[in-house]
Amino acid sequence: MGSQEVSTVDWQGKHVTVAGLGVSGIPAARALHERGALVTVVNDGDDERARAQAAELEALGITVRLGDGATLPPSTELVVTAPGWQPDKPLFLAAAEAGVPVWGDVELAWRLRGDNGKKAAPWLAVTGTNGKTTTVRMLASILEAAGLRTAAVGNIGVSLLDAVLGETEYDVLAVELSSYQLHWAPSLRAHSAAVLNLAPDHLDWHGSMEAYAADKGRVYEGNTVACVYNVADPATEDLVREADVEEGCRAIGFTLGAPGPSQLGVVDGILVDRAFVANRQKQAQELAEVTDVDPPAPHNIANALAAAALARAFGVEPAAVRDGLRAFRPDAHRIEHVADIGEVAYVDDSKATNTHATEASLASYDSIVWIAGGLAKGATFDELVIGAAKRLRGVVLMGADRALIHEALTRHAPEVPVVDLDRTDTGAMSEAVARAAELARPGDTVLLAPACASMDMFTNYNKRGEAFADAVRARADESA
Ligand code: ADP
Repeated sequence: MGSQEVSTVDWQGKHVTVAGLGVSGIPAARALHERGALVTVVNDGDDERARAQAAELEALGITVRLGDGATLPPSTELVVTAPGWQPDKPLFLAAAEAGVPVWGDVELAWRLRGDNGKKAAPWLAVTGTNGKTTTVRMLASILEAAGLRTAAVGNIGVSLLDAVLGETEYDVLAVELSSYQLHWAPSLRAHSAAVLNLAPDHLDWHGSMEAYAADKGRVYEGNTVACVYNVADPATEDLVREADVEEGCRAIGFTLGAPGPSQLGVVDGILVDRAFVANRQKQAQELAEVTDVDPPAPHNIANALAAAALARAFGVEPAAVRDGLRAFRPDAHRIEHVADIGEVAYVDDSKATNTHATEASLASYDSIVWIAGGLAKGATFDELVIGAAKRLRGVVLMGADRALIHEALTRHAPEVPVVDLDRTDTGAMSEAVARAAELARPGDTVLLAPACASMDMFTNYNKRGEAFADAVRARADESA
């Protein structure tokens, strides 16, 4: 069977165990039950919310077992799991022992696509440590500009299962996939896919960097048209080399430099394509200008090139790439320009929750007052500080693990002034902004790029970014 064809499963009377009530578990249980499967949902938690959810499912005739997500119901023929469940859980060990396959929400969506009589839209998939959401949204914007019926789905907004099972027909889907989701998606075969970059993240879940990379690399398996990799990150190209793809599928690189044949890149401020042209040796197709990308920071131009490569692999014309990029606006808290006060720019990149994202952020500005700190999640900061030291006007630190960053600054950038705010309360942000403003000189950028998670001080990175923006706007009003 060709990899893009729809496989049909006979669900009638099949014993399926759904692991985890939640955003993917509940729709999965319903969809399988509707198709005649005998569904049991198992869930670790047994709180009020879980009981209410269980009652709804039980009313439909679905069995729910609360308070024990570890034991495999004896007759299980298939386990469908929430993507976050760690692979070494006893439930999965029992499944492996019994020879029972385990699918994640993505695998289930892949298998169910087209079984409701709707067109089974091909998937253009994006994974990587950072930039997935941005790239997938850019890609959807480009596909829309080309007049295609599409949506950005997966780890963002619409769930894959909803997109596949809902009534809307799509020509193509722009799909964001996390390493967890890929881990549990053995038969997924994208039309084309991109791995944007690979840096250590979520190693506690995957067990090792090799296992993490291998799960990311699954996105290339069975691609039919293009495997898109990052020329600057050879690990992504290695994954292409190791992938088993369909005959004729091409490796396409993206680079911030001048592109070689079969690459997309940048020449004199223009995004150009030397991959999807009649003569790759001689021809370069202009796609858009760097200034069409918002913001035109290096890492984000890389995201735009990856999105453009996937769109071009799908046959989208150059003008639609340009129009789609122009129409794209970044999500909040991702290098978001908040205000200029006295020739100092204030930028919110609260979403930079790891060092790899922060590295990209710090590389985007020449002279920076950096606001950082929070929960380090086991990260080290030496490389980050070494790379950015020359561009740092000053640093303001806060949050639980700020000492780790402070120590790296003392080791590698002792001349950079550091304000160490000994507080982890929410109000610390306005003091951080005030102290950063004191350090900044005209032409500088005050950049919130914490390199850490936010939960020691805020509910999430959105709240952290809002606290920063509120503090900046209050200062802007005062100085107006
Ligand atoms: P993801 O969905 O992978 O978490 P986002 O697009 O939401 O990615 O961006 C997350 C963070 O990573 C942001 O702080 C952003 O500035 C940074 N970032 C975005 N693209 C890249 C990239 N290509 N390389 C490194 N960092 C990036």
